[in-house]
Amino acid sequence: MTNENCLEGIKCPACGNEDVFRIGVTTTAIVTDDGAEVEHGEMEWDKDSHAECANCLERGKLSHFTPTRRARRRACAFIARARGEQPPVGYVSA
Ligand SMILES: [Zn+2]
Repeated sequence: MTNENCLEGIKCPACGNEDVFRIGVTTTAIVTDDGAEVEHGEMEWDKDSHAECANCLERGKLSHFTPTRRARRRACAFIARARGEQPPVGYVSA
């Protein structure tokens, strides 16, 4: 499955999981002396957020789970060759 929404471009470099991750997020809560309650359920994260692969527990910043363009091109070329097709021009062939 290719992620096209929240996890677009995210993949575990250790095990290849691209389905489920734990990510440290920032949100806003109403806080009183008695406790805290998340206000809207809205949350944010970025490439520097803590992330963990839910499959193999690989950890790091979210950017650690973003393959480089070169790695993506290499994977794309590998898939093309596995299908018996020519990799797109300019893609790494080795
Ligand atoms: Zn993993």
